[in-house]
Amino acid sequence: MSIYDFSIEDIQSRFDVEPYRSCQIYELMYRHLGNFSKATGIPKSLVAKLIDCEDFQNSLSIGKISKCDNDQTEKFLFELKDKKVVESVLMHYYNRSSVCISTQSGCKMNCSFCATGQMGFKRNLSKGEIVEQVIRLMQYCIDNGHRPITNIVFMGMGEPLDNYENSIEAAWAFKNELNIGAKHITVSTVGIVPAIKRLTEENLPFRLAVSLHGSDNETRSKIVPINKKYPLEMLIESLTEYLESNRSRRLSLEWTLIKDVNDTQDQAVKLAKIAKKLRAHVNLIYLNPTAKIGYNASQTDAAVNFKSILENLNINVTLRKTRGQSINAACGQLAYMN
Ligand code: SAH
Repeated sequence: MSIYDFSIEDIQSRFDVEPYRSCQIYELMYRHLGNFSKATGIPKSLVAKLIDCEDFQNSLSIGKISKCDNDQTEKFLFELKDKKVVESVLMHYYNRSSVCISTQSGCKMNCSFCATGQMGFKRNLSKGEIVEQVIRLMQYCIDNGHRPITNIVFMGMGEPLDNYENSIEAAWAFKNELNIGAKHITVSTVGIVPAIKRLTEENLPFRLAVSLHGSDNETRSKIVPINKKYPLEMLIESLTEYLESNRSRRLSLEWTLIKDVNDTQDQAVKLAKIAKKLRAHVNLIYLNPTAKIGYNASQTDAAVNFKSILENLNINVTLRKTRGQSINAACGQLAYMN
């Protein structure tokens, strides 16, 4: 249980206060990042009660901070109350700063090239535990003179749509309570079709990124096993509905370049077809090394060639620079190893 699992109504009943007081407390939790000792306008006796209440506490303790990329990437190991661990990554850029957060400790999806998949599944995070990662890192940015967080990506440990309610409730809290624009909040999914349908029905305003990595079922099923349950045709159909239900929506497709697995011309041409149909932006990244042997990152010329095939077919594509590799904080490296 985290303090950020409390709604305004929960606060009202738990502390037996008037509605306006619970709104004040709620505001302190978010706008003032939970610094109750600095509260003004709230009776001291109530502040003491809040600080003493066992459930109304932070649920994450910062275990270890690792830095790399000239201190522009920082990885945080958080320990939960039950000693399970999750990781979040803070990335500072010249014009923004982005935080990559976890929604589960471990993951069930078992993608063969991802370190989190290899650690197995521990448990879902509560909404509060997801929110608290951002609150704590916002405080860290203030304390260390960094730019405030401008973007949030659900690309840390876990599959956000396998923990749908808590992830989406956390996204709403970022938008409504922390005033981060919905277009700056990206939920990344491996492609859980019923959950994508639910996003469509609920008309959610957040951005969606889909981890594709293979443009035919044979290739994709090898590295992303959930593809056997929700094959590409089903996934593409659900994404088409998602896009058609609201024309302002934009989709990105994530593609980790793995040598001789998905960096061929054939894969690029098939990917271009999918990206065109979905009007999607393609983000290419090199495979980051994980403990699992057997895969290598694509060579630079193969990656550049893959990119130009897509460009020549008029697809918007970025070949991203990887951040955080040396501290195992890059995509797919988040697992409790160091
Ligand atoms: N479960 C979600 C979010 C977590 S993974 C999802 O699948 O989208 C975030 C991104 O990192 C995904 O696109 C994932 O496929 C990618 N990734 C995983 N392992 C990687 C690795 N070893 N190197 C590069 N990218 C990786």
